[in-house]
Amino acid sequence: MEKFLNLIFIPECLSCKQPGTILCDKCIKSCPSSRQNFVKVPNVPIYFFFIFEYQGLVRECIRKAKYHNRQFAALKVLSLNVSVKLQSQIALLSKTPSIILPIPVSIERLKLRGFNQAELIGQKFSQQLHIPMKSTLLVRVKNTSSQFANTKKQRFTNVKSAFKINDPRQLAGKTVILVDDVCTTGATFLEASKTVLKAGSHKVICVAIARKS
Ligand SMILES: [Zn+2]
Repeated sequence: MEKFLNLIFIPECLSCKQPGTILCDKCIKSCPSSRQNFVKVPNVPIYFFFIFEYQGLVRECIRKAKYHNRQFAALKVLSLNVSVKLQSQIALLSKTPSIILPIPVSIERLKLRGFNQAELIGQKFSQQLHIPMKSTLLVRVKNTSSQFANTKKQRFTNVKSAFKINDPRQLAGKTVILVDDVCTTGATFLEASKTVLKAGSHKVICVAIARKS
């Protein structure tokens, strides 16, 4: 459908209006990179990658992707860009078979949005990295209130025991790549990582398109 529409309407860049693509390379390059883009959690096999700062065009793509088709398409382009950037680092870190798991949203947010944005990002990663994605393996068992409204301490308490793995056998000995749109304190990623490690995975790589600092 998207390809068909592109034949009729030549897309133009969301930011600079150049015709050709919904988000041009020049504008992607101008998006500020995350100040700290790699973190290894001490003593546990958990790694974090963030690519962009959560501001400007990146923030617009992420925030509005739920309501506007153009931003939705732009977020796909951005996700592809991030997966290309991380391809070699992920390959280096994941020597064993890997699996991509999107961070699930709460039922309320899913109802509100109609889809999970992290799943859309995961699909692009899956295509580019040739790693399968399972979107129903990691589930949210506790509805947490919006992460943006809480203090750092509250966020960690909030997400405690928020996740569960449906079929742990599918994670045994695997590297899990957790994906999400924005990372703020890392509380959600950490809690999901713990759940995944407990279920038998031996390494977790958390990837967020943007870091909100
Ligand atoms: Zn542009």
